Amino acid sequence: MNHPSNENIPSRSFSYHAFNFTFLLLLAVFFISLYTVALLKSNSRITLSAAVERNISCSDAVHRAISSRLTRADFEQINTKSDMNSAQYRSLQSYLNELRSLNSTRYLYTAKRGPGGKPIYLIDGLDLEAPDFAYPGTYLEEEMAPYLEAALSGKTIHSQKIIDTTWGHIFTACYPVIASDGTNDILGALCIEIDMEDTYRSIEAINRSSFGIAAAASMIALLLIVISYFYTKKQKSRELTQQQLLEQTAKAAEAANKAKSTFLFNMSHDIRTPMNAILGYAELARNHLQEPEKIGEYMDKIHISGEKMLSIINNILQFSQIENNQIHIEETSIQTEKSFDSCIVMVQTALEEKQQHFHVTKDISYPYIYIDTTYMSEIVLNILSNAIKYTAKGGTISCALRQEPGETDGWCITEIAITDTGIGISEEFQSHIFESFSRERSSTVSGIEGTGLGMGIVKNLVDLMHGTIEVKSKLGEGSTFTVRIPCRISSREETEPTAFDETAAQTLSGCRILLAEDNDLNAEISIELLTREGLLVERANDGVACLEMLQKAPEDYYDLILMDIQMPIMDGYKATRAIRRFSDKKKAGIPIVAMTANAFTEDKERALESGMNDHVAKPIDMKVLMSVLEEQICGHKGL
Ligand code: ADP
Repeated sequence: MNHPSNENIPSRSFSYHAFNFTFLLLLAVFFISLYTVALLKSNSRITLSAAVERNISCSDAVHRAISSRLTRADFEQINTKSDMNSAQYRSLQSYLNELRSLNSTRYLYTAKRGPGGKPIYLIDGLDLEAPDFAYPGTYLEEEMAPYLEAALSGKTIHSQKIIDTTWGHIFTACYPVIASDGTNDILGALCIEIDMEDTYRSIEAINRSSFGIAAAASMIALLLIVISYFYTKKQKSRELTQQQLLEQTAKAAEAANKAKSTFLFNMSHDIRTPMNAILGYAELARNHLQEPEKIGEYMDKIHISGEKMLSIINNILQFSQIENNQIHIEETSIQTEKSFDSCIVMVQTALEEKQQHFHVTKDISYPYIYIDTTYMSEIVLNILSNAIKYTAKGGTISCALRQEPGETDGWCITEIAITDTGIGISEEFQSHIFESFSRERSSTVSGIEGTGLGMGIVKNLVDLMHGTIEVKSKLGEGSTFTVRIPCRISSREETEPTAFDETAAQTLSGCRILLAEDNDLNAEISIELLTREGLLVERANDGVACLEMLQKAPEDYYDLILMDIQMPIMDGYKATRAIRRFSDKKKAGIPIVAMTANAFTEDKERALESGMNDHVAKPIDMKVLMSVLEEQICGHKGL
């Protein structure tokens, strides 16, 4: 499973915060822009209505000044350009012109409905020589017609917005001219236009800037939408990835759980089988106490079953060590052929039992190499014992050792290929063979016992040794496993002779061991096995008894203490610490070896930390124990 690494967290949180900051900033700018646009709009409205108010007061004042002078004759007798010569026209025209130039009024004129009902100019207040001067009878521009129509229907009208005309931007006010002779006839209209160019420009300027701001706000809004879209998309894809990761984890956990259940199910069956044999044969032996031959046969079977159980337990132990990264490769210089032969020897009995043909070929180019011989043997033994296990009686097994130069100077590749003519492995299973707990057929189906851990352990060990393992197989025809390990080339001088040999028993003969062991059965077995090797053994039932016996004994009486760990009253660790604190320095320095069923690496480490010299796992492998005893006792005595 891929967890996000811690290194990624600060950078991701940084970009996340940066993103949030940018988003909020843009949002703030967007709202400020909107607010500014609203302010400008209201400002432009205020400017316009103030200008309109001002113009209304102005035009009303002009209307008041002029209205008393307008008579029925001014509207009825002036109709065409020829009427401009009349004194009546001239006097009114010059009055209107005067009034126009007195204030900001741009234009003053009188009008009425002409022939055909369309409004026409009567008296124009512009200078007579002005290019846009309108003669009496000229039709009014269309944009002004609605105002005039309103006035002619008796209503006073003021434009509330800026009117865009050919003369520019203006305000207009049109007043009806009512006959003062009591008839109340609407004679025509008086219209006043006021220049609104400045107001128009300032409103335009406001509009332009609010347009710019509105455009910017829209851009920001668009940007915000795009950012939100991509952020949501990214968030969704992140959520999706997380969900997929969770699903994968759940699936993996489910698969692991299933594998564990299958393993426990198979395990209980596979442990029960040899257990059943041990108990069954022990029972049979009890019934035939007087028949030594039968007892011998049953004992052999009990031994075989015991070994099977031990191999299962060892596999589980090693698997857990691999799982906890507790396996460390220790390379020592070894003799290639000798180390290879010692593996072959170990499977000899099994081969003979199944009457299988065995071919060995050796092509040794580098007689001395650096390798972790314990784990290399374990790899070869696991593959070899599977070859024997999954090949029928009378089948053939070949084991080929070959070496070739490595990629780097001073290195070589040691290759071991093991071929059998057994049941073979299906192509589908070949891709799962190195997974822990995986078996092609359960013990119930195949009748062959196993944990499904061996190949997983082999693969892990090969990986730790930076090597490769390859399997080629065909169902019903057999399999070939090829292991290739890169090794540093060594020499005879760098290689130590093998530590333990048969002479160890002679060296140790007569040595006295103090055995601290609370379990009677274990004590009996240990005493029997050690005595058979010529050692003298005295037993203490717990840590305290062990201390007392050592204290009371004469100097150099005991050569070594074999210390169990879990004991009542005082355990092995405490007893060892107490011994190391003895004032008698000789007794305090006695070699102490832990002999315990606590076989994990951390148990060994704890034993050494408490002051013990070495650690041997139960059940006792006499070869291992004798080698340790020889090393400790001889080392202590300086032999
Ligand atoms: P097991 O304890 O079941 O033998 P391993 O991990 O050693 O477990 O092997 C896993 C599985 O691989 C075995 O159960 C078997 O199905 C298959 N296998 C391994 N070696 C061989 C072989 N030489 N021939 C046929 N099948 C094999």
